[in-house]
Parts: sequence; C-alpha cells; structure tokens
Amino acid sequence: MNEYDSNRISDLFIKNGYSRSFDIKDISYYVLNTCHIREKATEKVYHDVGRLKKNFKNKSKPFVLITGCVSQAENEEMLKREPFIDAVIGPQSYHKIPKIIDLNNEKLKKYNLTEFNVIEKFDELNTVKNLVSNVSAFITIQEGCDKFCNFCVVPYTRGPEYSRSSKEIVNEINTLISNGAREITLLGQNVNAYRSKNNGELIKLSGLIKKINDLNNLKRIRYTTSHPKDMSEDLINCYKKTSKLMPFIHLPVQSGSDKILKKMNRKHTIKDYMKIVEKLKNINPEINFSSDFIVGYPGETDKDFKETLSLINKVKFINSYSFIYSPRPGTPASNLKPLDEKVKKERLIILQNLLQNIQIKKNASEVGKFKEVLVENKLKNQNKYFGRTKDLTPTIIQGSTDEDIGNLVSIKIDNYNQNSFFGVKKTTNSGVAA
Ligand code: SAH
Ligand code: SF4
Repeated sequence: MNEYDSNRISDLFIKNGYSRSFDIKDISYYVLNTCHIREKATEKVYHDVGRLKKNFKNKSKPFVLITGCVSQAENEEMLKREPFIDAVIGPQSYHKIPKIIDLNNEKLKKYNLTEFNVIEKFDELNTVKNLVSNVSAFITIQEGCDKFCNFCVVPYTRGPEYSRSSKEIVNEINTLISNGAREITLLGQNVNAYRSKNNGELIKLSGLIKKINDLNNLKRIRYTTSHPKDMSEDLINCYKKTSKLMPFIHLPVQSGSDKILKKMNRKHTIKDYMKIVEKLKNINPEINFSSDFIVGYPGETDKDFKETLSLINKVKFINSYSFIYSPRPGTPASNLKPLDEKVKKERLIILQNLLQNIQIKKNASEVGKFKEVLVENKLKNQNKYFGRTKDLTPTIIQGSTDEDIGNLVSIKIDNYNQNSFFGVKKTTNSGVAA
C-alpha cells in the first residue's frame, strides 16, 4: 500500500507542475514515505534524514516531508527532534500536500497533518489522474482496521475500516488499464472486509471482483491482505467462476497455536483456518496459499511453535513472510513479558528453513512444465524478460519480444532457485514463438 500511496503523492505533485526525481541533487521537495509495522522504523527515518542533511551542508535545503505511518505515530515529536524535517503527514492526510506546497514558497513554516480524513482524501484523489503505467498495478480499495490484534499498530496509524465506492474503484482501474495495466491487485489492510453501497445495494469484495472481471483488456485480478475471519462463502465461491481471479491467496495466520491466536486477539482458530483452506482446495486443487507468521510472541512455548511448523507442513505455504514479534508502543501486547532473544531467533531460523524447503521442493517439481506467465518488462541490458506465474513466482524468460509485454505467454520452466523460475517461451512446431 505504501507503493500505491507513494505513487499517488507523486501524482499530486505532478498535477501541481512538479516532476518526480530520484536524484536528490535537483530536488526542491523531498518525500520519505514510511512504514511503522515493525521496530526500528522510526530510527530508520532519522538515519535517512541525517544522510540527506549531509548533501545539503552548504546549499539551501529542500522542503522535507515525512509521510506514512511513522508520521502518524510520532507526530509533533518528529518536528521537535529533527529541525531538518518540515512536515509530518499521516496516511489519511496526504491529499493536503498541494495546499502546503502552494503556501510554502518561502519554506519557512512547519506542518503537522495527522488527522483521519479518509473520505476527504479519496474525494480529492479521485480528481487526480493515476499515472502508474505498470503492467501489474495496485489500487487501494479499503483502508484501516477495526480488529485490534494485540500486537498491531495498524488500527492506530491507518485508522478505522473504510471502503471506497465501487464506482470510483472501477473508474480508477479503467485509467490504469488505459495506461497499460493488465493485472490489478486490490489492496487493503483487511481487503476482504470490503463493503460499499451502490444505489442502496451492498457490494462486498466478491461483488467488486465480479464487476472488475468484466473489464476489457484486464487479464488478472488479485487482492491482498485478507483476514481469515472475513473469508466469507461468497468470496470463496468466487473461485468457482471468476475467470481472471488468480488461484493464489495471501492469508495471514500468524501462529499455528490456538492458545497464541487467542492471546493475539486474532478472532479465528486453526480449525476455522483449515476449513477455509479445504473449501478452496475443493473448488480448485491448484489454489496455493501464502501467509504471515509471527515467531516468539509472548507466551509462545515450544509446543505452540511446533504447532505452527505442523500447520506449515499441512498447508505447504509458498512465498510467505515471517517475523520475530516486535513490541509496538501503545499496543496491548507491548506490556507482556518478552521471550528470550536467543529462543526467538532460533525459532525464526527453523521456521524460515521449513518455508524455504517447501518452496524449493515445489519449484523443483515444476521443472519441465509449461506455466502461464504475464510478461511485465524487459530486463535492463539483457535480452530477457520478466514476468510472474499465477502464484506470483518471478520468472525470467528467454525468447520473448517487446510485443509480449502485457500478454500471457506459455513458458517452459527449465530452471529455478528458491524464489524464481527461469524458462523459455513456448515455440510452435515451426520453431516460431507462440
Ligand atoms: N491485516 C493483515 C496483516 C496486516 S500487518 C492480517 O490481519 O493478517 C502485516 C503483517 O505484519 C502481519 O500479518 C504480521 O505478521 C506482521 N506484524 C504486524 N505487527 C507485528 C508485530 N508487532 N511484530 C511482528 N510482526 C508484525
Ligand atoms: Fe493488524 Fe491485521 Fe490484526 Fe488489523 S487484522 S490489527 S491490520 S494484524
């Protein structure tokens, strides 16, 4: 979502006559978009600003804006601690950036914009063209969270759950398609809690996906991140007939132990989770899952940890994320007694090794097979192309041409590593690429 937000911030600047640069030598505004989900995020911001400062020792400084969830959490404190920072702007207030840059020709004032103005934000963003021209593009459809897992800062930094109207989402996706998008990933902190009204009719994520499935020139639909509690029947049934919906679901579980899930306030059990997996596998056995795991949550015993390993062995997750529990200030879990550092690190290594082994085995089993890949771009300085399979595995392709960009091609997988495939575009009998 930060990538989506960063691009929208860039769109706002561009609408106001600026252009985007990654070369700090010629900038008048510097934007650092931040994430606060795990520790060290705040310190990282001060380090980055410190490094930036060194470049402007003898020159007039750019106007420095810190956006995202670190700004939301740290607020005024950032302006006090680092005078080089000129504005802190929370994730629900960044639509106001044009106002402060207009007002700020002398760059003298400091700004703290950290209100939750999510409705106003999207009203404003709807008037600004989304300029992203990637084959695979993101769009935020839902923001915030009302679930309050005991370890998580999201409800405090992104605010309460909010869903954009289906009409504005479809409009923005049409813009992205006309810019060249062929795959859309619908984003939300709880994307499957999406709910909006269209002329009095309730539209859930399943209904939205069906609408998007009808859009011409769009080839693939994905959504992330889902909560198991909101994996409703209608959404599960979407996998029966929505042709563009990819058979790959990121469904964070966090732990394989019901005791820990309860302590986390996750509101689902392992039985609930496995039911969802089974229902989806019954619809399409090719559906794969990825997940997020938190290792070393306060109170996690060896037995709890082993239950997580056993869940991983059962579901055979691919492409997952795993983290050591990181106490976040202001969250209920931050007051709990932490586990020993060594134990946490050891468990993380064991868990990551297991995830890696499963992934490597799966990738090895695909060698020699043909996979459908959406070609995204040509690799720099190489005659090879980059794309992704249905389950998001990066694939390096030989034998493609620029004409394949934005198209689904059949790739014969001839090699792999833990994270990627290497393959050749399928050729017809005449030896011409198909
Ligand atoms: N809404 C999603 C997850 C959003 S946060 C869900 O409920 O599943 C993204 C991921 O960051 C989480 O799934 C979790 O694994 C990780 N995370 C969040 N807070 C964390 C913390 N305090 N310590 C370690 N990992 C954390
Ligand atoms: Fe955080 Fe997800 Fe829990 Fe919400 S549901 S509090 S975003 S982990």
